[in-house]
Amino acid sequence: MNTPLLMEHLFTYATTYYPRREVITRTASGIQRFSYAQFGERARRLSSALATLGVRRGDRVGTLAWNDHRHLEAYFGIPCMGSVLHTINIRLAPDQIAYIINHAEDRVLLVDSGLLPLLESIRDNIPTVRAVVIMGDHVDPAASPIQPAYSYEALLAEGDPHFGYPTDLDENSPMGMCYTSATTGNPKGVLYSHRGLYLHSLLLGMANTAALSENDTVLPIVPMFHANAWGIPFAAVWFGANIVLPGPAPTPAILVDLFEKEHVTVAAGVPTVWLGVLQQLDANPRSLALRMVLCGGSAAPESLIRAYEERHHIPFVHAYGMTETSPLATFSRLKTHQQSLSADERLAIRATQGFLVPGLEMRLMSDHGEAAWNGEEMGELWLRGPWVADQYYQDERSQDTFMDGWLHTGDVATVDAEGFIRLVDRTKDLIKSGGEWISSVDLENAIMGHPAVLEAAVVGVAHPKWDERPLACVVLKPGQSVTPAELIGFLQPKFPKWWLPDAVVFLDEIPKTSVGKFMKRALRDQYRDYMPNQAEPNPS
Ligand code: ADP
Repeated sequence: MNTPLLMEHLFTYATTYYPRREVITRTASGIQRFSYAQFGERARRLSSALATLGVRRGDRVGTLAWNDHRHLEAYFGIPCMGSVLHTINIRLAPDQIAYIINHAEDRVLLVDSGLLPLLESIRDNIPTVRAVVIMGDHVDPAASPIQPAYSYEALLAEGDPHFGYPTDLDENSPMGMCYTSATTGNPKGVLYSHRGLYLHSLLLGMANTAALSENDTVLPIVPMFHANAWGIPFAAVWFGANIVLPGPAPTPAILVDLFEKEHVTVAAGVPTVWLGVLQQLDANPRSLALRMVLCGGSAAPESLIRAYEERHHIPFVHAYGMTETSPLATFSRLKTHQQSLSADERLAIRATQGFLVPGLEMRLMSDHGEAAWNGEEMGELWLRGPWVADQYYQDERSQDTFMDGWLHTGDVATVDAEGFIRLVDRTKDLIKSGGEWISSVDLENAIMGHPAVLEAAVVGVAHPKWDERPLACVVLKPGQSVTPAELIGFLQPKFPKWWLPDAVVFLDEIPKTSVGKFMKRALRDQYRDYMPNQAEPNPS
């Protein structure tokens, strides 16, 4: 039967079959717990309140919020009524936030009370917004810089807990949208369809990927304003997992505490988060129920995977994706015949980005056509499938990325004969020295393998003779010291001589993007002219 694949099904299924499972949120006043039965009623009340505010099918409703129970209610309440959940990245600059709200033509904004100051500077620049709904335990709508403003809880109190959802929506209609940063210019909008996110949610339940199920207690650290928190809230709710939401600005100490007290079995975040958590665990080892730490967004260094598994016995799974792919595209899990390899060989495979998830297709394209899957030839990764976007929302830059029916990812990779992908770099981060490519990612991962190093980012900086040369920007662990020469010596056996960074600078912190990735653009700008004056070129 050709029944439509709709978000409403996930919601109704979860609230019908798992009414006792829980949404657990860290708030300023402590832990709050809602059963799925309560969560279901609150989501329906939200939908009815939005309908009263004039929100109709297809209208965009923006959220400016951390990971908490109200944001989860919006994750379902908005799409189930046929409107579009537009999650806005709260860490962007105000001008970019204003651009995004205008471009998406958001009708209503749901805003955490603590984030209201974000609206202050853009209040006069977002004419499409008809109302602001303030989320929090004690809110004062009069304090909102934009009027009319309402209290979320007051609206819910008046809302209808039995509000009915349409079951006749087109499965290809949009249910969500998220803007992703562009190298230059404004962020680009990605629309998600009901069908795409339904299938992406099924994917997260597969044993070959994350196997999310009712047995799990899942904690998405990855923000709900970024790429659907990797789709975890949708899948976790559908499959009846308990879901733990860590609230505003969770620190590693807070996270470890939640892991322990709530018996979290699966948690997901970017490598910088896992580095921070690792320091906590190293300082104060705990016995945790984590059956899987899911890591993506940037390359997970081999040393990080090893530390979790060997020192803390926590299985660490590396995955890859993009906002444009909903986001999950690959998972790094060993195949049966690889289980008998040596520990080091297994680790090296698992530190790759893994191979394609079922449901997607890929190509590896070099300038000369398809590149061979031999672990050596590099090419750009192209992807397609039901949860891959086919354009940016009303944006002429679509034509540079979506061509011939494929998403051109901008990620350069090698693929081995088994299909395991090793991302070499993003096209824009590769370093071109004397006409040859150097992978900044490989160098970073190797440097982060040094015991004194906490974080490292390698960028190409201008060089009169070689065009570009690698510069290593390194953050040491507290109380550790190492000289540039020692670090270069540490890398020497692992790389050709001309790959070795010409200089090492020590920093207190690597600047991070709004989602916690290394902001290499900032380092490149800062050190653009560093090399010729400071260091002799390394290449022989
Ligand atoms: P942004 O483009 O703003 O960084 P995305 O989250 O959409 O936001 O980023 C997707 C990109 O992040 C990918 O194209 C890739 O370059 C990088 N990425 C994601 N996961 C990994 C990973 N496991 N290893 C290396 N790079 C990754």
